[in-house]
Amino acid sequence: MTDANHQHLESALDEQRTFAPNPAFSAKAHIKSMADYKAMVARAERDPEDYWSEHARNLLQWSRPWKQVLDWQPPSAKWFVGGELNVSVNCLDRHLESVRRDKTAILFEGEPGDRRSLTYAELHAEVCKLANVLATLGVAKGDRVAIYMPMIPEAAVAMLACARIGATHSVVFGGFSADALRDRINDAGAKLVVTADGGYRRGTIVPLKANVDAAVAQTPSIENVLVVRRTGHNVAMQSGRDHWYHDVMASASGTHKAPSIESEHPLFILYTSGTTGKPKGIVHSTAGYLLNCVLTTKLVFDMKESDVYWCTADVGWVTGHSYVVYGPLALGATVVMYEGAPNHPEPDRFWEIIARYRVSIFYTAPTAIRAFVKWGDQWPQKHDLSSLRLLGTVGEPINPEAWMWYHRVIGGERCPIVDTWWQTETGGIMCAPLPGATTTKPGSCTLPLPGVALEVVDKHGHPVPFGKGGLLIVRRPWPSMLRTIWGDHERMKQTYFSDIPGDVYFTGDGARRDADGYFWVMGRVDDVLNVAGHRLGTMEIESALVSHPSVAEAAVVGRPDELKGTGIVAFVSLKKGADVSDTLKDDLKKHVTKEIGAIARPDDVRFTDALPKTRSGKIMRRLLRELASSGEIKGDTTTLEDFAALEKLRDED
Ligand code: ATP
Ligand code: MG
Repeated sequence: MTDANHQHLESALDEQRTFAPNPAFSAKAHIKSMADYKAMVARAERDPEDYWSEHARNLLQWSRPWKQVLDWQPPSAKWFVGGELNVSVNCLDRHLESVRRDKTAILFEGEPGDRRSLTYAELHAEVCKLANVLATLGVAKGDRVAIYMPMIPEAAVAMLACARIGATHSVVFGGFSADALRDRINDAGAKLVVTADGGYRRGTIVPLKANVDAAVAQTPSIENVLVVRRTGHNVAMQSGRDHWYHDVMASASGTHKAPSIESEHPLFILYTSGTTGKPKGIVHSTAGYLLNCVLTTKLVFDMKESDVYWCTADVGWVTGHSYVVYGPLALGATVVMYEGAPNHPEPDRFWEIIARYRVSIFYTAPTAIRAFVKWGDQWPQKHDLSSLRLLGTVGEPINPEAWMWYHRVIGGERCPIVDTWWQTETGGIMCAPLPGATTTKPGSCTLPLPGVALEVVDKHGHPVPFGKGGLLIVRRPWPSMLRTIWGDHERMKQTYFSDIPGDVYFTGDGARRDADGYFWVMGRVDDVLNVAGHRLGTMEIESALVSHPSVAEAAVVGRPDELKGTGIVAFVSLKKGADVSDTLKDDLKKHVTKEIGAIARPDDVRFTDALPKTRSGKIMRRLLRELASSGEIKGDTTTLEDFAALEKLRDED
């Protein structure tokens, strides 16, 4: 259970820069002004169920209308009860009746440089074939299918084929180990795995099939393994169990009649990234989930028919589900998919891709942006990024200086930035600027989307005044909210619906609202520091450090201190070529004092090449906290990216 015993978080960092939408952008945007946004909010507040129904009617194709919009038995929500649709029909079949039939759905680039594109008609045919294959292999509606794939079009095909037949998919990030895969397969009781012989990452082959073999040796539920040939290297195939994808697809029919599926049928299970503890198997629904994906893709990314859209997330994360596959495909967008690392063969790979495909919308994570800052401006400057018209970020709070760099160097001071706050559990974006309407402020995810009852409250559930920090909650259910934790509804209740009274959803994040009502996520409540009676979020101290010209990235944690209760330890990674003088540690402490005040002055600054992160690139402060206070790590490390980074920090302890 999360510790929510906080009245207030203190806030100190005061970001004053603002960026109003460009009038030319607003004129063409779906939501053109603050007045339009406010009208939408007011309309949603007047009758939330009617608001969501209107979008559900306009944005989705139903095979059977719903009888009841919402059935809310806290913490269990059901949306569009009695209604039926098919997610894959919404993402594919309905586009075949229009000019979108021959529109490019996926523009794929492999790490070695191979390229492929699929039109909506082609993607549809692949999905139909795989749906037939899955059925032949005994996968039926309600069965679970594990997907353990590189970022290749077949990953999306596999997800959509599962959705088409009503099999619940569980995508396991291709960077995870055999053990992590085994545990997730067993937790979900998956019947079949879709994988590849391997995938390319930084010039080497990730041995996906070998990992599957090791995992499946200990997963009694798995009956069949489908293997996409990606690298062509030799892999073991167990006869009867393992099937080459191209073999079974060659004889499969390209037509498939999609069944009608209940709104509340579980579309997928996805494990959270494990920043705060052991990952949770979050379960999402069919209709409510899809609705919010489509609506947010349209409004937040201001998606137009002509856009070339690239979200760099892996399908192993929720961002890859909602904003690589379901949201954009349901809107009929053209989606770029890239298999490999951002710095292979050189640190300009992303910029080269943007220039090649004339990408207009680019969505990535703060961890990537901080890496770009570290690598230097010369890499993006080598390429023509003039096709970009909108930038997005998700995953962590973005430090204002990293935001400014993104704005200046990637966006050419021309592109709005949408800082999108949401979680695996929320299914879709909850708080973000609408680019034609909202004035942005670096580091703020700005204002909740219409219909989303986001608030900052104290532990009793009472709203805290603007300017004060508190707990970020969602007051009312929303269509794409998690339905349960797979196999553990009690844990879902304990984790999200027990700390704060009033049947509100607790996000686990701390936040404050400024005088304009803008939301500033201050970090996870679990990471809050209690220094001499002051509660400080990690984000603000880290942002102060990152605003120093030598610093690329920083993570701040507490360690027990006899006098102050908690001492502040800052782990800092420096920019390439930064001047590491003897006084730099002292300079950084002074810099924080100047930016925030003496209360936030770090007691200890430690330089490190790399910070421990989850596989999705988020800083794992809980591990640093353990390291800073005891020199030992006992917590769950199954989602840690790089053990070496942690070992190195431990050695220096
Ligand atoms: P776990 O719940 O297992 O600890 P996790 O919270 O890292 O893992 P995700 O669901 O991938 O798993 O991440 C959601 C969290 O990421 C949010 O709760 C928030 O802390 C952070 N986050 C995401 N986007 C933003 C953003 N735009 N601004 C601030 N924080 C963000
Ligand atoms: Mg979380």
